[in-house]
Amino acid sequence: MKYCKNCGAENNDGNVFCFNCRCESFNPGQPEPPVSNVNVPSAPPVQPVYMMPARPKPPLGVSDLLTVLGFVCAIVGMFTISMILHPIGVLASVIGFVQGKRYRGLALAGTVISVVGGIIYLVISLYNNGILPEWITYGALH
Ligand SMILES: [Zn+2]
Repeated sequence: MKYCKNCGAENNDGNVFCFNCRCESFNPGQPEPPVSNVNVPSAPPVQPVYMMPARPKPPLGVSDLLTVLGFVCAIVGMFTISMILHPIGVLASVIGFVQGKRYRGLALAGTVISVVGGIIYLVISLYNNGILPEWITYGALH
């Protein structure tokens, strides 16, 4: 007896071709499992390509609220020249910029506007108190 290498069918020794699958390869003795579709590694499954879902917006945090607060303080401070609004605007905007997940552009704008407003306020108050030399502010304030 001999066994087909291809399909494992038991064949008579005289067979030239496997009676089952017509191949010519035989093993003497022990039958081997058919190789077809047993040890052949199947192709790795192709991952379907999905459309990347839009990244969900990070949750609104306290820092983002500070950003809005800082920006509002910056804007209001520009028009009211109130002493307290500029430090609040700078502080809230910087915290919002560093820690906030949203509105970073707004936080940056709030910081800049607050700083500029604070500088303007500082210059005006220095001038009003006579601390600033007149030749510095003469062109701007007269
Ligand atoms: Zn065979």
